Amino acid sequence: MKASCSDESVERVLNFLEKHGLSGHPSRGVERTVIGVLGGVGPWGAPGSIGGINPTVEESLESMPEVESVLRVSKPYKLASREFHPIDTVVEVPTPCVDGGIVQIGGEAIVMMAGPCTVESEKQLMTTAEAVRKAGAVVLRGGAFKPSTSPYGFRGLGEEGLKLLAKARDEFGMSIITEVMTPSDVEMVCEYADILQIGTRNMQNYMLLDEVGRTRKPAVLKRGMSATIEEWLLAAEYILSQGNPNVILCERGVRTFEKATRNTMDISAIPLIKRLSHLPIISDPSQGTGRRDLVGPMSLASLAAGTDALLIEVHPNPDEALKDGAQSLTIEQFRELMPQAHAISKAIGRYFVTR
Ligand code: PEP
Ligand code: MN
Repeated sequence: MKASCSDESVERVLNFLEKHGLSGHPSRGVERTVIGVLGGVGPWGAPGSIGGINPTVEESLESMPEVESVLRVSKPYKLASREFHPIDTVVEVPTPCVDGGIVQIGGEAIVMMAGPCTVESEKQLMTTAEAVRKAGAVVLRGGAFKPSTSPYGFRGLGEEGLKLLAKARDEFGMSIITEVMTPSDVEMVCEYADILQIGTRNMQNYMLLDEVGRTRKPAVLKRGMSATIEEWLLAAEYILSQGNPNVILCERGVRTFEKATRNTMDISAIPLIKRLSHLPIISDPSQGTGRRDLVGPMSLASLAAGTDALLIEVHPNPDEALKDGAQSLTIEQFRELMPQAHAISKAIGRYFVTR
């Protein structure tokens, strides 16, 4: 749209689009207003593709006085692209312990999410929750349904684990992020979780993505361990295209030839995602490295690269953890990391959500 266009002119364009069977998604910034258009049909493209706009409709749009120019989104992902939606998406999560009771992910402030890899017992969860909350975390992580590479590994406490997470939420006012593995569990996990986590192994579980897309729950979509950036954004597109706008991407390392670390943490994905997409991007240096001694440095690097949140595994006694002990920080190590994280956020003109 032309600079300083009025609300009425935006409305006029939206009406025009609707009349032609297209949906308009306006994003109004301080300097620019962009209307993303979806849903063309006919010989020009498949339903839902922007390429599917009738060329004569495109010409009529271009000649409207308030329209500056009409550009085709060149990326295969549309709703997830920065071209379609130039303004940063901010995902809001109800979090009682912060001022106003809402934490924003993707805004100016950075969010610390921490907790055990897996909920093991009430004592383990409560001890960790209390400690990470005191140190400045506002979101509590913990898996109740765990994907296990081996069928003999610990696969989580299931709904019992979710109940413990809900208890920790009530006690410490933190919001909860936890993994959902299968479409049939989405409804139940939504009853307990504030943020759904879709794990690396499920990034391309399209039935699960569709189901999460039919909710409005904030959803953290981990990068598949061998997924390209484009495949990852197309997975996000699945959730968005079902109507759930609250998608948060999470870099958690990719599989490479390197064996010294569990995964190779792709820090460059953070600023790259910011360029390609309007969605928030967060960082999981625990799965990203698999090594406790590298979690601190990779957290700081992620912050410098522009992450909107950190997702960190912490355990009161990592050597006895049922899962991912080698990459879990001790409570003391987590406490020591916080002031360093604050210093980096300050250096880049951001700050942590804490109270
Ligand atoms: C986790 O967060 O504990 C986890 C299993 O993550 P990922 O899916 O990235 O391996
Ligand atoms: Mn883990």
